[in-house]
Amino acid sequence: MNPSSHYDVIIAGGGPAGASAAIHLSMRGARVLLVEQKKFPRPKLCGEFISPECAVHFERLQVADAMSAAHPADLAATVFYSRNGKNVRVPSSWFGATGVALGLSRAEMDERLLRRASEAGAQVLEEAHATNVIFEDQTACGITIRQGARETTYLAPIIVDGTGRNRALTRRLANANRARRERALMVAFKAHLENTRIEADACEIYFYRRGYGGLSSIEKGLSNLCFIASARDVRACGADADRVMREVVCKNQRAAFTLKHARLNANWLAVSLEGFGRSSVAPINGLLAIGDAASFIDPFTGSGMLMALESGELAAEAIGEFLNHSPNISGLDQLQAAYTHRYRETFNSRLTVSSWLRKAAFVPGLAEAAIAFFGASDHLRRKLAHATRGSRPETSAAAKRVR
Ligand SMILES: Cc1cc2nc3c(=O)[nH]c(=O)nc-3n(C[C@H](O)[C@H](O)[C@H](O)COP(=O)(O)OP(=O)(O)OC[C@H]3O[C@@H](n4cnc5c(N)ncnc54)[C@H](O)[C@@H]3O)c2cc1C
Repeated sequence: MNPSSHYDVIIAGGGPAGASAAIHLSMRGARVLLVEQKKFPRPKLCGEFISPECAVHFERLQVADAMSAAHPADLAATVFYSRNGKNVRVPSSWFGATGVALGLSRAEMDERLLRRASEAGAQVLEEAHATNVIFEDQTACGITIRQGARETTYLAPIIVDGTGRNRALTRRLANANRARRERALMVAFKAHLENTRIEADACEIYFYRRGYGGLSSIEKGLSNLCFIASARDVRACGADADRVMREVVCKNQRAAFTLKHARLNANWLAVSLEGFGRSSVAPINGLLAIGDAASFIDPFTGSGMLMALESGELAAEAIGEFLNHSPNISGLDQLQAAYTHRYRETFNSRLTVSSWLRKAAFVPGLAEAAIAFFGASDHLRRKLAHATRGSRPETSAAAKRVR
């Protein structure tokens, strides 16, 4: 054991949430350790639709140029298709910012964010698995990290769980609320494809029985197909991703057309999805959750990465105030309350709306009815699209330094 308390903050998980928090905190002068279990770049199961509002975050994180250099696809609209081919279009311009969403692989995006965290001053450890949280007097004060056969303990006054749906740290606490389990276990698949017939500049969403999927253009002329199917349907296809695509996803007329001549460019990734919704954002003093570790918003809103970047920044602001003004036990109480309050204010309403939409998407026939209903009115469609997002005030906090 080699305890070290050279850090103000330890963040587990180097996805967009962890990297966002690490960059914002490092830019404020905090001493940050960022621990990621994988070696980047790595593929990641995701729709790879980066919603337009992320552009503002990329600017603030100073990664906008690095993202452009990866040549992402510009996505001007998302088009939702019912099984029989009816569709509604949601222009990316409704979400403000640049008015364009980006299609970029997670290998490229996450790599650029992680390198920026390092450049901003965070110490980044890859292939380092956070295995445990250390507590003292009911307060989190460190974590254990496994690198190969070696276990090391690192100490810091603040620990952040950015390990995604894994919730590697917060799930260890008995009092942390578990994300609500869905009735049916779902399985998600993703692969990069060549030779699809997707509409240029669009992300297409397909609804089918007990699931939905998204096809999006990404860099290098490829398309990313990411879909969710019920475990029952996946078992019926012998857990073969190609068969699920052909026999379940392609029951949607539009998917059958766009995917007819598609070829795999990389292996399928698959993961089971057990729950959506909120977990505990600050389950105990000294431990905050960000990104999917705090809440998992339904993927078809295309806003999980936005929430990851936002919640990383929100946590960095609250931690920055703690480090500046009251880095002691009573300050930890205030940090826990302040972060929880701001988190709810920022995300609760969009999480609620998204959970209604998710339920509707899985009721047979309702997705069709909703597509017909919302297709008839730009106004209603725009209102609904906005309800799945929030409006976080611009902040000058990034400029405020710790100490
Ligand atoms: C099927 C599907 C499709 C989606 N499509 C989209 C989309 O198109 N657009 C969108 O915006 N969002 C989408 N999302 C949501 C989006 O992927 C997540 O919201 C986003 O990745 C959350 O970022 P994060 O940093 O919280 O977690 P993650 O991106 O999951 O990152 C967590 C990181 O922590 C690391 N880690 C895990 N455990 C440990 C540990 N013990 N120690 C150290 N490191 C650890 C992991 O390796 C990973 O790199 C989709 C999600 C799913 C499931």
